[in-house]
Amino acid sequence: MAILRFKALTDLMNREVPKMVFTEERAPEIYGELVFNDEAMKKYLQTSVYKQVKKAIESGELIGRDLADGVAAGMKAWAIDHGAAHYSHWFQPLTDGTAEKHDGFINYGPDGKVIEEFAGKHLAQQEPDASSFPNGGIRQTFEARGYTAWDVTSPAFIVGSTLCIPTIFISYTGDALDYKTPLLKAIHAVDKAAVDVCQYFDKNVTKVVANLGWEQEYFLVDRGLYLARPDLVMTGRTLMGHASSKNQQLDDHYFGSIPERVAYFMRDLEIECHRLGIPAKTRHNEVAPGQFELAPIYEEANIANDHNLLLMDIMKRIAKHHGFEVILHEKPFAGVNGSGKHNNWSLCTNTGINLFAPGKNPKGNMLFLTFLTNVMAAVHKGQDILRAQVLNASNSHRLGANEAPPAIMSIFLGTQVSAMLNSIVEKVSDSKMTPEEKTALKLGIGRLPEILVDNTDRNRTSPFAFTGDRFEFRAVGSSANCAGAMTAVNAIVADQLREFKRDVDALIDKGVKKDEAIFQIIRKLIVESAPIHFDGNGYSDEWKVEAAKRGLTNITDVPESIDTMLSDHSKKVYVKGGILTERELEARHEVEMEKFVKKVQIEARVMGDLVINHIVPTALSYQNILIQNVKGMKDVMGDEADSLTENERDLIRKVSEHVKEIRSDVQAMIDARKKANKIESIREKAYAYSQTVRPFLDAIRYHVDKLELIVDNEMWPLPKYRELLFLND
Ligand code: ADP
Ligand code: MG
Repeated sequence: MAILRFKALTDLMNREVPKMVFTEERAPEIYGELVFNDEAMKKYLQTSVYKQVKKAIESGELIGRDLADGVAAGMKAWAIDHGAAHYSHWFQPLTDGTAEKHDGFINYGPDGKVIEEFAGKHLAQQEPDASSFPNGGIRQTFEARGYTAWDVTSPAFIVGSTLCIPTIFISYTGDALDYKTPLLKAIHAVDKAAVDVCQYFDKNVTKVVANLGWEQEYFLVDRGLYLARPDLVMTGRTLMGHASSKNQQLDDHYFGSIPERVAYFMRDLEIECHRLGIPAKTRHNEVAPGQFELAPIYEEANIANDHNLLLMDIMKRIAKHHGFEVILHEKPFAGVNGSGKHNNWSLCTNTGINLFAPGKNPKGNMLFLTFLTNVMAAVHKGQDILRAQVLNASNSHRLGANEAPPAIMSIFLGTQVSAMLNSIVEKVSDSKMTPEEKTALKLGIGRLPEILVDNTDRNRTSPFAFTGDRFEFRAVGSSANCAGAMTAVNAIVADQLREFKRDVDALIDKGVKKDEAIFQIIRKLIVESAPIHFDGNGYSDEWKVEAAKRGLTNITDVPESIDTMLSDHSKKVYVKGGILTERELEARHEVEMEKFVKKVQIEARVMGDLVINHIVPTALSYQNILIQNVKGMKDVMGDEADSLTENERDLIRKVSEHVKEIRSDVQAMIDARKKANKIESIREKAYAYSQTVRPFLDAIRYHVDKLELIVDNEMWPLPKYRELLFLND
């Protein structure tokens, strides 16, 4: 094994600096060339078909067969012109990542000769036998068919030689089996609820779009070293590995110059992104060594999410060309920062107004305050709903683990906005406002935009931060499909906005003037949701105590968090809100429990194999060398050797002790696993895995990491942290 490790290192040293895979090209020339976008549709579709498709895209409705035939003809011609030979419906099952089922354009024509065929029926719908995708018991085997149907709002694109068609994925019975379907429904729900509220202020608002700008963090590890780490390959993270002497304490990596080999990779990635119409813009080093970030310009949430999933896919592919492996796990290395995927989220109207940006006048600012306070209320009531979408087996190593962000949900607003809210609470009373109060309030609100312009308030520890004209949901994991988080955010806000409108209308019905009614409800929301507002250090222990006092939940156990999906409030938001049926919600609850069990199960197995087959034998070999040494010393030096070999004998003892602990822990872990596996209920099984199996992973690791410090470096069978984290130049 030591030879393998040594070989990987020498290979690395002897390798040529990888060249670019693509030829250097300027963004405007290649942007979107692999996307069946507006320009391509204009060129390849008949005018009448083009017009109908545009209409369907605007309304978000599925298209009929006649239209599908027309679109398919143009899409096929375009795809073949761009080198495609296959097509695939591209969908988002409830696993990590996306799924594809490729079919060739090839078919037999009427005369028995081979033709290239792609008709409306192939475009509009596919029937993958998808019984092996997670479905939470929705799909019995006798109804194993699943349907994928084209999401017209997201354009088709070409990867390699395959035309990919973004689709939703539903069961034979019409139940959603994917992440995209509820996301589309949540986007629609928040559109409707927000438009209704905007109508108080501006009758021209007829559509509100949810935007998403994600920031993807990731690690790059040399592929040779990666392949020598079975834990990274099988679980996405290192289950063992002592911290290197230097890690991130000097803060010299963050925003530092990008290593040359990494820069080549990033450039290739950018070129491919631009071809695929992904507006990649920002790239930089992240906090941890070997950690980087890519962020695009924000887009409409559904498209942005498709683009993120596509990115995660292509970055892995391109990294291989450069001798790298991309690690998207939230916590691949203990002791150094993990990776998240900040979700920058905003709502914008068809009239060009960002609802989270203060307006130019008091009226515009009242709109801003309305939406700001409704988000506060939504997050306050929906803390558990948000957490349930981001806390999973992998992200639980990051959330609440002394590093960004905590498992407690809170909102950061900054001093200026906070002061504004306070003044509303002070000035608006439940009874009628005096004219002076109204003037003072309007003056205060009027000043808001100037103040915010130079508001440089930044708080990096908040899970849900207001950053001037958007909210940044930072608890989302780097490997996650953002759709879960974005569905939750848009759904809780839609629910809250509906409630807001009901309350305001009720006051208006009682004869209260519109403006005053709005102010009164805003005031009520500020007071009620005050506990969720926290501008301090979210990583501190004091915050945990304070949050508990405020009645905020702090759930770090994964199954416990998943269970909150079935709370009354969750059902109100998702089921009453028309995002998921009760059956779909229950199925998702089950799928999440199952995913958790499987992930921990795999980690436990890999850990067991690794320590018994790699670590313990290595430790014993080294121990034998020490034993030989002590014996030899005794032969040569006689009694004098007793004092001279004191350290060696101490090490022999230490190795024995660690090996003994490892063996007994591994046995106990296997027993716990066997016991948990016998449990019928998936929910109870998840709790058993969380409480009785998972703790052994850390316990065993402790001893392995101690051994790593003792055993001869040449013999150690796994690449070490210093090699994994620092060798990407
Ligand atoms: P940070 O300082 O947090 O790193 P960046 O300026 O890099 O922020 O932006 C992060 C992401 O936020 C980008 O994708 C950017 O396009 C996006 N973003 C900017 N404004 C908005 C907005 N109004 N709504 C949604 N996303 C936005
Ligand atoms: Mg950010």
